[in-house]
Amino acid sequence: MTDTTTSQIIGRHRPTIAHINLAAIRHNIQAELQRAKPGTEMFAVIKANGYGHGLVEMARATLAAGATGLCVAILDEALVLREAGITAPILVLGVTPVTWAQIACEHNIALTVGDQQWLTDAAPMLTGQLRIHLALDTGMGRIGFQKPTELADGLTVLAQYPNKFNFEGIFTHFATADEADHRYFDHQVQRWQAMMAVVPRRPRYVHVSNTATSLWHEACNGNMIRFGVGIYGLNPSGGSLTSPYPLEPALRLTTRLAFVKRLAAGDSVSYGATYTARHDEWIGTLPIGYADGYPRRMQGFYVLVDGQRCEIVGRVCMDQLMVRLPREYPVDALVTLIGEDGAETITMQDIATYAGTIHYEIATNLNMRIQRVYEN
Ligand SMILES: *Cc1c(COP(=O)(O)O)cnc(C)c1O
Repeated sequence: MTDTTTSQIIGRHRPTIAHINLAAIRHNIQAELQRAKPGTEMFAVIKANGYGHGLVEMARATLAAGATGLCVAILDEALVLREAGITAPILVLGVTPVTWAQIACEHNIALTVGDQQWLTDAAPMLTGQLRIHLALDTGMGRIGFQKPTELADGLTVLAQYPNKFNFEGIFTHFATADEADHRYFDHQVQRWQAMMAVVPRRPRYVHVSNTATSLWHEACNGNMIRFGVGIYGLNPSGGSLTSPYPLEPALRLTTRLAFVKRLAAGDSVSYGATYTARHDEWIGTLPIGYADGYPRRMQGFYVLVDGQRCEIVGRVCMDQLMVRLPREYPVDALVTLIGEDGAETITMQDIATYAGTIHYEIATNLNMRIQRVYEN
């Protein structure tokens, strides 16, 4: 089922580590479940390697903390979870080509369906009953039924094949739930209600909330939330809106000085020689680079050594980067790229802001070459 011929290198003999605090994961999930309407279920969104935190590990941690199901983006992620022995409900959020619908069926994996044609095409190929969730496009403009009439046609096909489809869920996705201005959100709610009016029987799962919707909007009659980035303690708005409870970031990224040297004034560092020492100074080399997912454009940002900010000097290389140290430090001294050291903290958001992106991208880019260590 999974391809064992692909070499997936994990840096086990390199001191660059993503520490995942499982206590933070539990805290974030439980805080969210406590403020949700009674009876609301949580499906933990663990696509993209659990937002960089580890797919199977995040499945186990979130289910143990109270999630009752899991969401992934693609069928292969769901298959890896089943192979790992996870029996909880799993929903694939993206569109799966009809060709592979039978595989989902065999592994009891629910698929997202966004048009009538998919149902018509899949029905003859299925030997059993496939769990499906209908996606309604209320303004995200990505996937899903757009009009009540289209949805009604889809429901007709479902009714024609009661032995092929288990109509288990219906959902939508909001485009602006992380913004203070509610107008577009309210517009989507109206479209949601207009479409739900043609659904004669509500399926088991009705779900409209990603993390931002759950944190900042009254749910529109949903009974399940798709909680994603909040699991990992990251604020979906990037900080422009305040979370109703403190989210605890779960990931710390550390490494150790691999090489330390003294530069003379006038000496340069890294490709392009874009940094030249103005004084004699101490330079440390870190065993992490853009091939690990630490963005190349972080030149000029900083890391923490001994509780002090140390500037990243010269271009970030593929596997290494250099920092200016305030004094000589020994090889192996601890370096924090994300997390706390003394009075200083670097957040995933700080990196995202500097890199001109969102923390989702920073988290999901931290790849498997960085070993994960699970704590607490
Ligand atoms: C990724 C995704 C989520 C989770 O979003 P967060 O912002 O991480 O909470 C929820 N629903 C859908 C459809 C998604 O694609």
